Amino acid sequence: MNKKASSISLNPDVSGLKESSTLKINQTALSKRAKGEKVFHFGFGQSPFPVLPQIVEELKQNAHRKEYLPTKGLLPLRQAICDYYKSKFGYDFHEDLVIVGPGSKELLFQALFALEGPVIVPAPSWVSYGPQVNLRGKDITPVITKETNNYKLTPEELKEVCVNLGPGQKVLILNTPNNPSGAVYAEKEISELAKICKQNNIIVISDEIYAEVDFSLERKRGFFHFYPEGTIVTSGLSKAQSAGGYRLGFLATSPNLAELVDALTSLISETFSAVSAPVQYSAIKAYNKNADVDKYLDTCSKVHKTCGEYMAKRFNEMGVSCPIPEGAFYLMPSFQAFAQKLKQNEGVESSQQLCDLFLNKLNVAMLPGSDFYMGDELLCVRVASVDYDGEQVYKEMLKAGDDFEPVEFVERYCPNLKDGLDAIEGFLKSL
Ligand code: PMP
Ligand code: GLU
Repeated sequence: MNKKASSISLNPDVSGLKESSTLKINQTALSKRAKGEKVFHFGFGQSPFPVLPQIVEELKQNAHRKEYLPTKGLLPLRQAICDYYKSKFGYDFHEDLVIVGPGSKELLFQALFALEGPVIVPAPSWVSYGPQVNLRGKDITPVITKETNNYKLTPEELKEVCVNLGPGQKVLILNTPNNPSGAVYAEKEISELAKICKQNNIIVISDEIYAEVDFSLERKRGFFHFYPEGTIVTSGLSKAQSAGGYRLGFLATSPNLAELVDALTSLISETFSAVSAPVQYSAIKAYNKNADVDKYLDTCSKVHKTCGEYMAKRFNEMGVSCPIPEGAFYLMPSFQAFAQKLKQNEGVESSQQLCDLFLNKLNVAMLPGSDFYMGDELLCVRVASVDYDGEQVYKEMLKAGDDFEPVEFVERYCPNLKDGLDAIEGFLKSL
């Protein structure tokens, strides 16, 4: 469509905003596919498995629910979330301090909108935190983490940024298991960071959307266990339950931050009002802890582990350094070892140029490290390891149980992962 020169005046914070790169690359890759092009789609993080049948059935059974629900969310759903998190993570959430939203992304935005103070974000981190903070008229304060520490924030790095920011209220957003690095913080690491947060007037937004995509299958206790009085937890159905399109997330906190919950309840009542009623009813099934749900979560995590480890091993073998993921469905390899050749032969000097080259030359879709706040000189890219037929792969993993050979499994059932990596390897060899 040809756009006319605009005659309207837009809020400058909005007119400078770009479409989120995750959603944009997904549409680019899908429209290439729709035109019959072969694409290796490592650009978008969407869990490809079918949603558990009992959740789908519950959605159908509740299609007639047309009433607006309470702003904070349906009470039985909020109670189910509290029970689920108590039994799985040992968290003492209270239903009055749980808010249901249309995806945790919107709730993150609302929380960031409501909270004062600088926002500390370890780099690399998910693409949307920065723009959300920009919309609140601020820039994030990135803390560059080290590949040698698997891109995890250390207590020393956090202490140093606190000294620079001074004694006022600060916000830290920390996501584990991590998008984009696949890193998982140990409980001890979280407890040490929590201590520093407590001493330095930091409110933590603990983004736990991948908490049940932890390859160890452990349910690790996060900030809410070590520092409940200063922690806001966000999560939802999108990743572990493979239901991103249901758009259901939640935010939970402790009585100490009840004022925030009141503020958010007002904000929500003036913005999205409440989440779709049928989706909320169906979500109760997702938070009904039982053997079927547990088996589903474990099987999905096993596939994510198998694919993530396969991809990391292949990258490292081709000379592209890449931490081995321990959770979620992403990897963050660095092509720095090829920087000179990429510059000389292809004129590539930034992670965005590298991704453009891979897309145009190899049909491999990935996202640049710069979208995740990483310096361009590192030539990092974000790779999602979910380009396969989730329905088939889920069935095969159930059949395989513990008796399978990981490389053979990936190459047989997830051929795009192998073929996309072969294309990258061939290209690097040709440089
Ligand atoms: N945090 C991270 C790190 C994510 O990757 C996502 C996925 N988009 C979200 C939050 C938001 O997920 P949703 O809005 O689907 O709950
Ligand atoms: N979390 C997914 C990703 O990072 C996509 C969804 C989104 O960004 O909202 O690719």
